[in-house]
Amino acid sequence: MAEPFIDGGYAAFSWLDRMTIVDPADGSEVDTVPSSGTAEVDRAVRCAYEAFPAWRDTPAAKRGELLGEAAEAVLAARAELAPLLTSEQGKPLREANLEIRRFVHTLEHYSGLAKNIRGGYVPDLDEDTYGLIVRRPLGVIGAIVPWNFPTTLLGNKLGPALITGNVVVAKPADTTPLTTLRIAEIMHAAGIPAGVFNVITGTGEGAGQALAEHPLVRKIAFTGSTPTGKKLMAIAAGDLKHTTLELGGSDPMIVCDDANLDRAASAASVGRFFNCGQACLAIKRLYVFEGVADEFIEKLVRKARRLRVGPGTAEGVMLGPLHSPRQRDLLEEQVADAVDSGAEVLHGAKRPKGDGYDKGSFYEPTLLLEPARDSRVATEEVFGPALPIWRVRDMEEALALANGSIYGLGSSIWTSDLNRASDAAQKLEAGYTWINSPQLVYDELPFGGWKQSGHGKEHGIEALEYYTETKSVVVKRSVATQERKATQELGGSESVSQR
Ligand code: NAD
Repeated sequence: MAEPFIDGGYAAFSWLDRMTIVDPADGSEVDTVPSSGTAEVDRAVRCAYEAFPAWRDTPAAKRGELLGEAAEAVLAARAELAPLLTSEQGKPLREANLEIRRFVHTLEHYSGLAKNIRGGYVPDLDEDTYGLIVRRPLGVIGAIVPWNFPTTLLGNKLGPALITGNVVVAKPADTTPLTTLRIAEIMHAAGIPAGVFNVITGTGEGAGQALAEHPLVRKIAFTGSTPTGKKLMAIAAGDLKHTTLELGGSDPMIVCDDANLDRAASAASVGRFFNCGQACLAIKRLYVFEGVADEFIEKLVRKARRLRVGPGTAEGVMLGPLHSPRQRDLLEEQVADAVDSGAEVLHGAKRPKGDGYDKGSFYEPTLLLEPARDSRVATEEVFGPALPIWRVRDMEEALALANGSIYGLGSSIWTSDLNRASDAAQKLEAGYTWINSPQLVYDELPFGGWKQSGHGKEHGIEALEYYTETKSVVVKRSVATQERKATQELGGSESVSQR
């Protein structure tokens, strides 16, 4: 039985109902966690609040050192953490290992920035007066995370929050709290002080909402769906809390007639089917120029056929199960709508048959050609392994379709003409554009959506700004100078100007 991690230890809330964590590959029970409510969330937030002054006042270099050591300890435990992540999330072990490494890299990145948290100095504000711009942490951060990348998305918040002197109460998704709880324990054992990083378990409407509403929480750092993001923004408005909202996406990929088709097909296959298509940054709409469409599609179909579907623990599996029956039901509705609208099924569009498949939410990698341009796969986020493909005449048509979405998270262009690519990159309405590159996210570059994909940035040195406030400090250099001036004024000299 797993328990919330609060103030450096597991808290036994024996009076609470328990939620069952299920293995998506076969529906078996992995563990249970308590469904926390307002009182338990309050306890976690108050512990964090009490830990805040000491952590804030710890020298930044020391915070960096502790974060670096905590990252190392998590890396050392990856042989234990990756299978745990697979058991609760469903992803293949290889991807779970990669995810733990990404979490560690992000913490290391922010650990390395510890000595670069800077302010400003303005020398001549007035006679004998200078100004300082100092950065201060916000306090308690409520970090709410979804189930698709439970640790990567936690790391994106934990790294910049802790290095700038904030304390964190994290609320993982209802269905994937186990790896996060164990990581909190490991990081604490490696030196992160009690109360600095706490994890509460529970539902979104219960624990998540209580955390967002708590008056001592100064910022809601959220990754999840656009509808939940809107709710949290409304809650934040009540107390004017800070927010970063990393929300849904429907990333377009444009393949031009002069693209390297082999590389583009590989990028489309990985970009759509990684994590069984359950990635905010997955390629969710593909626009290919007419002249190369047949050749490109043939290559992509060949790649989809080779992808092995199965439990995440099995050797050589590329596509695990979808995270839950609910996710598969939704995907099946969207695919059926695409087919009804006239799409040709190039591959998949069905559940795999055979031993073991009936127990988990498995689905074949699916390619759909020319669904209606107003069908659900064109307008909604498709959070599973199905890729709609449309032929386009030229870049103008591709850009109009790519930008014709409520989302603006990522986008990619494949062409050997870099002038054409840079021109299109300027016009694509998205927070990230990859040119001839797979959709990989780098710690060094700010990441965040436009339009209904959210606001605020994670990653990069830029993320530090989202976890701090600036304070302007005005300093008069010498008291003697002020006294001389005051005497002059009493003697009838001109009055001090009001600024
Ligand atoms: P979700 O919004 O349902 O849940 C996300 C988290 O919010 C969970 O921890 C959940 O318990 C909590 N939550 C739900 N309702 C809440 C409420 N009323 N108050 C407070 N917390 C609440 O999202 P999901 O279905 O779990 O995740 C998939 C979505 O996340 C997709 O839309 C995906 O694109 C998006 N996502 C975005 C990014 C990004 O960086 N932009 C990354 C990954 C996933």
